[in-house]
Amino acid sequence: MESNDRTESPRVSVAIPLYEEEEGLPELLRRLTAVVDRLPGEGHEMIFVDDGSKDRTLELLNEAADEDPRITVVALSRNFGHQAALTAALEFVRGDVVVMMDGDLQDAPEIIPLMLERIRDGYDVVYARRDRRQEPWWLRLAYFTYYRMLSSVSNVELPLDAGDFAAFTAPVLEAIRSAPERHRYLRGLRAWAGFRQTGIPVERDARHHGKSKYGFRKLLRLASDGIFSFSIVPIRLAAALGGITILATSLFALYALWAKLFLDRSPQGFTAQILVITFVSGVNLLFLGVIGEYVGRVYEEVKERPLYVVRSVQRAGRSARHG
Ligand code: UDP
Ligand code: MG
Repeated sequence: MESNDRTESPRVSVAIPLYEEEEGLPELLRRLTAVVDRLPGEGHEMIFVDDGSKDRTLELLNEAADEDPRITVVALSRNFGHQAALTAALEFVRGDVVVMMDGDLQDAPEIIPLMLERIRDGYDVVYARRDRRQEPWWLRLAYFTYYRMLSSVSNVELPLDAGDFAAFTAPVLEAIRSAPERHRYLRGLRAWAGFRQTGIPVERDARHHGKSKYGFRKLLRLASDGIFSFSIVPIRLAAALGGITILATSLFALYALWAKLFLDRSPQGFTAQILVITFVSGVNLLFLGVIGEYVGRVYEEVKERPLYVVRSVQRAGRSARHG
């Protein structure tokens, strides 16, 4: 049984994407290494991906890697975005258990040992469930509604309120890596992978420093990646709405005929006509857009452009493991 190697201490790889986090980075390194130092066993590693920061993030990372052979620093050639950077990090990990987390200390490194405990219990995926968030109420409301809507339209069972912060085993990593899609929604892929999954409740801390790197547009894009990569309900909605419209129109046509023949009265109403025409063309355009969204995604996928470009890798020579 596989549970045998669960009792041994697995090699843990922590994967973290960073974009302009110079202010919080020293604190992150301090807290994270303190946690990793205390993990049982050896061969642990920390993979930092610098997502084209223009501040001193990369410099600080390289300095840290000089000091600590467990640190690998991957620098991307420009800013490719959070999910691409995280995907890059997952490409470099070599451990038995992977932890993916944000680098702004919103995901507390101290949670990692708790996650590993559940992995030892036999789970393959342990994700942080954000029961409480320290973010503005309107953002919390938006997250709340979004996750519930997403899980109701998706054909994969997506856990509610789970972000990227999670620990998972090598088979899950293999499954995630084997998904070739360009529009990455990693927390979705992680759920899609299956195996035994569980969540542990955590309080999501406020950002340690600075503003979220997710502007409204980036957040919207991530949200739509969640919906459009895990559901075709929006397209089905078009068909359903079309059906309803046809039915309603047919009923009205029958009524009009009946009124004309037996009551000698034809329905009138110029304003109503204009309203109906503009409304229906609005709906048409809307769903043209929805279908366009899927077509655009198909286009992006078939181009098969790489998700990111690596500029340099600094990896300690000493850790001579396979990979
Ligand atoms: N990040 C990144 N590339 C980007 C934006 C963000 O690598 O283009 C990193 C960022 O440094 C952080 C993590 O992704 O470690 C999450 O970003 P952020 O905290 O801005 O997102 P939020 O927590 O607001 O969802
Ligand atoms: Mg954050």
